[in-house]
Amino acid sequence: KNTNGNYLVTLIPGDGIGPEISRSVKEIFAAAKTPIEWEEVDVTPIIKDGKTAIPESAITSVRKSTVALKGPLATPIGKGHVSLNLTLRRTFNLYANVRPCRSIAGYKTPYEDVNTVLIRENTEGEYSGIEHEVVDGVVQSIKLITKEASERVARYAFTYAQSVGRDRVTAVHKANIMKLADGLFLDVCRQVSKEFPNIKFDEVLLDRACLHITSDPSLYAETVMVMPNLYGDILSDMCAGLIGGLGLTPSGNIGRDASIFEAVHGTAPDIAGQDKANPTALLLSGIMMLKHMRLTEQAANIEQAVFKTIAEGNALTADLGGRASNSQYTKAVIDNLKF
Ligand code: NAD
Repeated sequence: KNTNGNYLVTLIPGDGIGPEISRSVKEIFAAAKTPIEWEEVDVTPIIKDGKTAIPESAITSVRKSTVALKGPLATPIGKGHVSLNLTLRRTFNLYANVRPCRSIAGYKTPYEDVNTVLIRENTEGEYSGIEHEVVDGVVQSIKLITKEASERVARYAFTYAQSVGRDRVTAVHKANIMKLADGLFLDVCRQVSKEFPNIKFDEVLLDRACLHITSDPSLYAETVMVMPNLYGDILSDMCAGLIGGLGLTPSGNIGRDASIFEAVHGTAPDIAGQDKANPTALLLSGIMMLKHMRLTEQAANIEQAVFKTIAEGNALTADLGGRASNSQYTKAVIDNLKF
């Protein structure tokens, strides 16, 4: 908290539509009297020791504020460029990726009752990057699972369930096949569950979970799913698909040293600079961030205004089948705030 009573939050507007949707979030947050002071930073990569890196000023800002809202970043294509998202993840030890997916009234999809929360281990597992060629034509890719990282993400899943009022945590795994790796992950989840007697714990095979969620998503409306990296990567996009795609899904990267909230979609270069982008995913990420900062009242107000605006359907952007500009949608959300 600052001396003026506001919370300092780093804002990374990002590339493409990033600046437009960030502006919309800032306007709505200001109208809702959210006690936040934004520190805007540029993360355009610089070359340091021959490698791409994030400017020091951006790192310093996030270290100081420990909370950031981030627009999409264009990943430079070509050799020698490390993904900025990956760099942020490593720099701030962002160990858990949280993805809630909830059906939005007014935006019709084949599913109406999706309300899933998925937590993905974000630092190891299948994405450890340890691969080698044993002999010509034979490669190995190591799936690394540690007790430490599993414990950290499992504990976060239970804490998160508690904070959002869900009474169950479900570990998603393939311990029937990967007996040691997923076996360890599962075992750690079982151990951690004992620290949370008020929260139920169960386990489900990944394939079974996919079948369940696509047959009847309401089966997962009261639990928080937690799982190793790759499973979370795939399953979270599957859940996003059920509510109508990546355009409406927020996410949070929870870390040891900081937490970064971001929309799941990219920079949408095809519509950038035209006031056509839908800021909802970044807004919902901002709402997740407010909840993380325990600014629940403002979070609830903005959330109801977003859902009301979409349900009314008069000010929808083109991706949701409407004709409104980003500015018109933003104004409609502000008009729906409660005072
Ligand atoms: P994209 O998500 O940018 O776009 C896919 C389609 O969805 C486009 O037609 C786009 O117009 C539309 N779209 C996306 N967000 C929208 C929004 N908010 N409102 C309205 N329409 C929206 O995916 P892409 O084209 O594959 O990627 C473009 C760039 O974004 C690439 O450089 C990629 O690396 C980067 N990217 C960054 C992130 C991130 O920073 N987290 C995530 C994904 C992609």
